[in-house]
Amino acid sequence: MRTKILLALSFSALCASAFLDSIFVEARDKTDDVRTEGDAADDSAIYINKKSPGKSLILGTDKNSGLSVFDIKGNRLQEFPDGEQNNVDIRYNFPLGNEKIPLIATGNRTTNTIDFYKVNQENNSVERVSVKEHPAGLEIYGSCFYKSPKTKKYYYFVNSKAGEVVQWEVQGGTDANIILTEVRRFLVGSQVEGCVADDNYEAFYIGEEKVGIWRYQAEPNSGEERYLIDGTDPETGHLVADVEGLALYRIGKKHGYLVASSQGENAFTIYRRDNGNYVGKFAVTYQGIPVENCDGIEIASNYLGFGYQTGMVVVQDGNKTHSRQSFKMVPWHSLAIKFFPPLAQGFNDPITQP
Ligand code: CA
Ligand code: CA
Ligand code: CA
Ligand code: CA
Ligand code: CA
Repeated sequence: MRTKILLALSFSALCASAFLDSIFVEARDKTDDVRTEGDAADDSAIYINKKSPGKSLILGTDKNSGLSVFDIKGNRLQEFPDGEQNNVDIRYNFPLGNEKIPLIATGNRTTNTIDFYKVNQENNSVERVSVKEHPAGLEIYGSCFYKSPKTKKYYYFVNSKAGEVVQWEVQGGTDANIILTEVRRFLVGSQVEGCVADDNYEAFYIGEEKVGIWRYQAEPNSGEERYLIDGTDPETGHLVADVEGLALYRIGKKHGYLVASSQGENAFTIYRRDNGNYVGKFAVTYQGIPVENCDGIEIASNYLGFGYQTGMVVVQDGNKTHSRQSFKMVPWHSLAIKFFPPLAQGFNDPITQP
């Protein structure tokens, strides 16, 4: 009898862990394919249209040709063939001239520059601000924004395949020019790319592709102290190299998750935003076909209209069975309910809207 109970218990424990290791969530939609063939789609950002959430925009890079703008159903609306743009990110209310704009930045590997665009909020379209003008200060690979909750200053982090990071302060001049000032430079170690800043926590996360996810302080005077959120060592970590894209699901100022592309196993790992603890792992399918080799990932924690009531996850899909790559969109609620207990879901808390 005792043996039977033990067997039953260990069987259910086995099932639970097997289940946890294979949570699949189906994407609701995909973007139009990128323009170039092969490994081309790379990273994304989401512009949240606060007045009309259904008119929010997905910004996606083709690392061989440039930036595309998609609606939330994935239709291509605009295209900027401005070069080999890799990572892309966005922050809101950036003061430029006499405006406050949603500012988009992307790293251009053709010209080794940081390129800036904005969302024209009158007509909900993207426009160039300054392209191919601002040298990146290193051989640019990954990049992401940080806005300081203390000083309200904007920063753009850029990194190189050599593992170097430069933090630029980004300011808007009176004549609507962007002014960049280098404020910090440090070495992570080996190849890095994916990064994200958690503004509320003043934290900067970066993936060292073969090693794991590092958390640094994001303020420019905060030194090089860091700790490993999770690693690729199979004994101690949950990641399988390469560690690629990083994104945040924000609930209020303190809650929610950090999500990482664990590229080596075609999966994504989830951590608590408040303490970095590992929560679980999932994989994405679209029409039953697994998303593979994901580089960039982005998450909106906001209501984006029907189908995305508590937000959207955008993942780059490198699956070779498709002729051209695209980005797949997953409703956060579809993902949340796959877990037990379910992942937390936000409900458009106006205080923390970007
Ligand atoms: Ca790729
Ligand atoms: Ca990339
Ligand atoms: Ca991004
Ligand atoms: Ca990479
Ligand atoms: Ca890789």
